[in-house]
Amino acid sequence: MSGRPRFAVDPWSVREPTLALDVLGQTESVFALANGHIGLRGNLDEGEPHALPGTYLNGFHELRPLPVAEAGYGDPESGQTVVDVTNGKILRLLVDDEPFDVRYGQLRSHSRELDLRAGVLRRDVDWVSPAGQAVSVSSVRLVSFVQRAIAAVRYVVEPLGADARVVVQSELVANEPLPVSNKDPRAAAALGAPLEAESWGHGETSVLLSHITRASRLRMTAGMDHAVTGPDGTGLGAEASEDLGRVTVTADLRAGERLEIVKFLAYGWSAARSLPAVRGQVAAALAEARHTGWDGLLKSQADYLEEFWDGADVEVEGDPEIQQAVRFGLFHVLQAGARAEGRAIPAKGLTGPGYDGHAFWDTESFVLPVLTYTRPTATRDALRWRHATMPAAQARARELGLAGAAFPWRTIAGEECSGYWPAGTAAFHVGADIADAVERYRAATGDEQFERECGIDLLVETARVWRSLGHYDPNGGFRIDGVTGPDEYSALADNNVYTNLMAQRNLRAAAASAERHPDLSSVLGVGEEEIARWHHAADAVVVPYDEALGVHPQSQDFTMHEEWDFAATPASRYPLLLHFPYFNLYRKQVVKQADLVLALHTRGDAFSDDEKARDFAYYEARTVRDSSLSACTQAVVAAEVGHLELAYDYLGAAALMDLHDLEHNTSDGVHMASLAGGWIGLVAGFGGMRDHDGSLAFRPRLPPALTRLSFALRFRGRSLRVEVGPHAATYRLSGGGGLSVTHYEEAVEVSAERSTTCAIPPAPERVPPTQPPGREPPRRHAPKRL
Ligand code: BGC
Repeated sequence: MSGRPRFAVDPWSVREPTLALDVLGQTESVFALANGHIGLRGNLDEGEPHALPGTYLNGFHELRPLPVAEAGYGDPESGQTVVDVTNGKILRLLVDDEPFDVRYGQLRSHSRELDLRAGVLRRDVDWVSPAGQAVSVSSVRLVSFVQRAIAAVRYVVEPLGADARVVVQSELVANEPLPVSNKDPRAAAALGAPLEAESWGHGETSVLLSHITRASRLRMTAGMDHAVTGPDGTGLGAEASEDLGRVTVTADLRAGERLEIVKFLAYGWSAARSLPAVRGQVAAALAEARHTGWDGLLKSQADYLEEFWDGADVEVEGDPEIQQAVRFGLFHVLQAGARAEGRAIPAKGLTGPGYDGHAFWDTESFVLPVLTYTRPTATRDALRWRHATMPAAQARARELGLAGAAFPWRTIAGEECSGYWPAGTAAFHVGADIADAVERYRAATGDEQFERECGIDLLVETARVWRSLGHYDPNGGFRIDGVTGPDEYSALADNNVYTNLMAQRNLRAAAASAERHPDLSSVLGVGEEEIARWHHAADAVVVPYDEALGVHPQSQDFTMHEEWDFAATPASRYPLLLHFPYFNLYRKQVVKQADLVLALHTRGDAFSDDEKARDFAYYEARTVRDSSLSACTQAVVAAEVGHLELAYDYLGAAALMDLHDLEHNTSDGVHMASLAGGWIGLVAGFGGMRDHDGSLAFRPRLPPALTRLSFALRFRGRSLRVEVGPHAATYRLSGGGGLSVTHYEEAVEVSAERSTTCAIPPAPERVPPTQPPGREPPRRHAPKRL
């Protein structure tokens, strides 16, 4: 389904009022719970029916060969794929000997609700078995933000009308069969039975299962324990074998009596630790969870989220659906990064196996800008992960004949996993994106310890790549040729404007960091001469411009390429990557996703207002938005140049990507960058927030449909709240010393004592741009609250 709300519109929750089996894959992703370490897809408690079962541990992966038909030097030969680990979500129910299965009997009601403040997934079911026994089943599931290794489910069964014999089998299932994956390159590679059993055992109410992956030799343990409350005579039994752990609860329930099971789940994995160590760690986490108890876990979850929302919430008046979507997006972004602690933030978070569980530039360019201002410690940890992968990136640079560190296009553990080098290895901008995220984090937090321990290394080693990749032309211009920019429908292009401008920023940031820390620079072998070379290259970076058209070509000569025949491209042939050879796409003026337009946002300091307006209009007519990483950037730049209604349409396309399943592939996992893009569209789009030089600048302006936008930003230990109305914006701090920001280039001193209100100038009048036919963003008509 697309464009039609499936979920009730509520400001703080996402509720599915009735079960829709045809979109189970989508709801499994939307209702996924995670904390950055553990990810549980929103599968039904009883395990079936499912679209795709999924339980993930961040970083836990298997290796698989990456065969290339005609191998070349430097092709990665081994890929990494996320593993569906031991499933601990399962609670099978038998009512008077009949399995509870929503496909049989009568489902009188079924609702699921993701509560964004409580941090839980609730499910309430009223079901009549084929033999006529009615029961109510309710469950509440959480993945703890506070106890990183812990998830828990409270499961309650109550017979309605008549007494019932009830059996609940609470399970741990390893190597569960997965549906065969489709041919879409964005889906995951299927692995058959990747886990080898190492040990299994049970106590009275508990089971521990330990496995190791066959090729990557990563070791994991899953554990479960239970607190059971039922009538007298309630029985308990436990069993364990290689791939199955089971605790069985039997009870004879009178009508109105309840059986309540709290299932505590714990997960741990390690590449280095011994089996006893990993088992012990999981057993300890379980013991601690039992000690905390269900109520304690619930309370700490809500407290954690209260603190998060306090410094991160975005309020939107005039469009309840966008209000819901931006909070939903923030919740998933938090879930992806909150407790990742030294692991990546994958493109799908831990909500599905799409893109094999790989992390891309999506993290640094879309997700971290949000976390930097809402949960800065998560940004720090994600960048620490990049830093930890430095040896692999340095080795890759050497393999490619480059200096410094060449970070991978897609990876789980740090090695390049893209088997298609024109869009993988050649997309060198990922290094500058990492450097940009480092700089933004440093400026927003002043975290000097991070800069000294990781930041400077990342800046210096990425800067070194540019100096060895680029060269001077006879006119003294510093060119970076043969690279792939963000637009994956162009490859191996010369002087990609986005790449060159981001490299420029990277080079300057490395120089500044080296100058701030001479002691560390000398350890890194950075001398005055190298710093001077960085400055020189940055100042001389080539930014091509098409004088005749008055626009920037995305890359050299792009505007000379043949135009794509949009009139002859029916809607059924999108996304183009599934219907046309790359060879054809690469030679024409067709843009998959914001590229030059992304430069207008991230390097907006390098363009004049008129250039932005002209460039935006030019690329609008050629951008097909076949990537979910595009709409939010188009929203931001459309808002900046004055196309407020168009920006509002793009905001909807970004923020509702998964709630409306706009790309029909949410079942593989949510689109984390697009969810982050909901926030970006509001804060950088209608809030007009920019952070080019380490300070905050605002040029807010609302589209006609919105009457108020309010957002909080964490900045240098303070919480800044910006409230935007149709005609004025108000800035205030909730504590901490004063802060200087700008509002339409005017300096504004903000303090905790008093708020400052500034008028918003009217938007410039501009001719609305056009899009390729059929690729316009869905027109956004704000729906009324359901
Ligand atoms: C986009 C890339 C992105 C990747 C993962 C691709 O479709 O073109 O820019 O990094 O998806 O989200």
